[in-house]
Amino acid sequence: MTHIRFGPSGNSDLFYERGYKSSLQAPKWLHSLGLDAYEYSFGRGVRLGEEKASLIGKEAKFYDVQLSVHLPYYINLAAEEPDKRERNIVYFLESLKAAKAMGAVRAVFHPGSASKNTREFNLAAAERFLKEIIGIIDENGYRDIVLCPETTGKLNQLGNLEEVAELCAVDERLLPAVDFAHLHCRGKGCIKGKRDFIEIFDYLLNRLGEYRTSNMHIHFSRVEFTAGGEKMHHRLCDVQYGPEFLPLAELLFERKMSPVVICESKGTMAEDAVSMMEMYRSFHKEQNSIVD
Ligand SMILES: [Zn+2]
Repeated sequence: MTHIRFGPSGNSDLFYERGYKSSLQAPKWLHSLGLDAYEYSFGRGVRLGEEKASLIGKEAKFYDVQLSVHLPYYINLAAEEPDKRERNIVYFLESLKAAKAMGAVRAVFHPGSASKNTREFNLAAAERFLKEIIGIIDENGYRDIVLCPETTGKLNQLGNLEEVAELCAVDERLLPAVDFAHLHCRGKGCIKGKRDFIEIFDYLLNRLGEYRTSNMHIHFSRVEFTAGGEKMHHRLCDVQYGPEFLPLAELLFERKMSPVVICESKGTMAEDAVSMMEMYRSFHKEQNSIVD
């Protein structure tokens, strides 16, 4: 059965303007907007105690808001020095401890640097290290949290579509996190229409099969880029920047996919997640009106 979910990454400006103060209040608010997913960022480190994490988790469960977390940005699976590798293991374990307390089901991470050595060398190192980390995660009791390597926005990082698929091949439990804004940046504005989304989906279908493609994690926002890649995320109303969500919504609907769609608009992520959900539902209505 198709079960697509929509939600924001973090709290939008409106959340605070409406007088809310804490992420503890987010699940209820998101539910009132009709949303059912929420991504909590540990991007700059885990600053969430276990107690608060479990309270957020309780709220999320009550309001049927599925939680995911974003692991620290400085994770680098291509790290070579033993002390750096050790620290990376700690980043994973600390984050997953908080994620587990929250009841988060997915953990998204950026694979790491591609600047030293060749991309192939870095990717092979990252694959080996990821396999090792998965073993450690399993031993520590976090095997139920699905790790999602993400497509990244800067060219000097690992995380083009092929590299993410390659990393997902390390373990069948891994799901790809496809950040379309980031792919758009890497390809200098390459996502122009439905055909480009089809190409991305078909590539993953071919490499990772139907389940992992259908249940992928999606990040979406309009985005501005430079020669080096990502510059900044924008809002859905900033129409001078791509990519467009409507053709993606149509494709998700046509293929009856079940991804979690996280909106990463700058400041308006919750409201834009609602707009994206409405675009998706518009295809449903269109189809029903034809049947009627
Ligand atoms: Zn990310």
